[in-house]
Amino acid sequence: MSTTTATSTTTATSSRLTAVERSAQVERAIEQAPQQFRVLTGDRPTGPLHLGHLFGTLANRVRLQNLGVEVMVLIADYQAITDRDSPQNLPGDVLGQVADYLAAGIDPSRAMVFAHSQIPALNQLLLPFLSLVSVAELSRNPTVKEEFVASRARSMSALMFTYPVHQAADILFCHANLVPVGQDQLAHLELTRTIARRFNDRYASEHPYFSEPDGLLSAAPLLLGTDGTKMSKSRGNAVALSATEDETARLLRGAKTDPERLITYDPERRPEVSNLLLLGALCREVSPQELAEQIGDAGSARLKSLVIEAVNERLRPIRRKRRELAGQDDYLRRILADGADRARAIGDVTLAEVRQLMHKSY
Ligand code: ATP
Ligand code: MG
Repeated sequence: MSTTTATSTTTATSSRLTAVERSAQVERAIEQAPQQFRVLTGDRPTGPLHLGHLFGTLANRVRLQNLGVEVMVLIADYQAITDRDSPQNLPGDVLGQVADYLAAGIDPSRAMVFAHSQIPALNQLLLPFLSLVSVAELSRNPTVKEEFVASRARSMSALMFTYPVHQAADILFCHANLVPVGQDQLAHLELTRTIARRFNDRYASEHPYFSEPDGLLSAAPLLLGTDGTKMSKSRGNAVALSATEDETARLLRGAKTDPERLITYDPERRPEVSNLLLLGALCREVSPQELAEQIGDAGSARLKSLVIEAVNERLRPIRRKRRELAGQDDYLRRILADGADRARAIGDVTLAEVRQLMHKSY
C-alpha cells in the first residue's frame, strides 16, 4: 500500500469512527426530543431498493418517523442522469421507489415523499452553493470518484462532478438537521456542512441561517453485495426488497465467501462471511457473533441457508405490502404530488430568505 493510500484509508476509518460516535450522541438527543429534528434523506431512482437501503438507511427513516421525527424522503431524479443516459425507465422507477418506501413502513400521512425535480426553489440554491466550493475540493470527493469508475463512462459529466453540491441543496432547502445515510454519503454530508458554514460566514454572520446537519449511521453503514463490494443498484450485486423468495435464495447462494469451515464474525479479515452474518443478524435481531456461534463449523453453505431463511422471513411482510401496492399508480402519484406541494412551500420560503440575505431583493 502506498503512503498516500494508507493515509487516506486511515483518514476514512477515523472519519467513520467519528461519525459512529456522533450517531450515538444524536440517538440520545432524539430519544429526549424527537420534535427538534427534521430528517431529509433520499435515493436515486435507478432501480428497485435493496437490502443495503433497508439496513443502511430506510429502516432508520421508518424508526425515526415512528418516534415522532419529521421525515422528508427525497427521490433524487436529477441524480439519476449523472450516470444514466436513457430516462425512459424513470417514471416506472420513481413510482416503484414510492411503493418500496411505503412497503418498508414510510407513512405518507406523516412523512413527505417527493422528487427534487419538482421543487424549483431547491434547484435554484445550487447556484449560490456552487460559488462556495472550489473545483479542487470537489475533485477530492472519494464517493464521486468510485461512482465514476463503477459507471464505466469515458468522461465525467459536470453534473456528476457537482452532484454533492446539489445534495447540499436537497438537505439545506428544508433546513434538515439529520440525515440517515450509508457510509458512502459521509463525504457528501461533510461538504453540506461546509457549504452551510460558508454561507453563514459570508451572508449571515450575525445570525447563522443554515444549521450544519448531522449524519446518522446504522449498524450496517456499508452492506456488501454478493460480489463482496458495496451493494448497489448499478453493480448487479444487490438483493432487491421486491425480489421473490426464490430469487433471493439464488442470489445469496452465489454470494462470495471464504473456504474456512468455522464461521466467525471478523469484518477486517473475513469481510464477506461477516457481511452475511451481519445481514442474517439484522433480520433476526440478534448479534452477528450469536449467529456465528449457532453455525459453528458447519461452513458457508449452512451460513447461506440460514441467511436466506432470515432475509425471506424479514422481507415477507414488506413484500406482501409491495404486491398490494403494485398497479396502484394513481395512489402513488398522489403521494408524490402531495409531497411536492408541501416541499415547494418550504423551498419558496427558503429561497426568498436566501435572496434577501444575498442582497438580491430588488
Ligand atoms: P446506485 O448504484 O444507482 O448509485 P445505490 O444502490 O448506491 O444506487 P443510492 O440511491 O445511491 O443507492 O443510495 C441511497 C442511500 O442508500 C444512501 O444513503 C446510501 O448511503 C444508502 N445505501 C446504498 N447502498 C448501501 C449499502 N450497500 N449499504 C448501506 N447503505 C447504502
Ligand atoms: Mg449510489
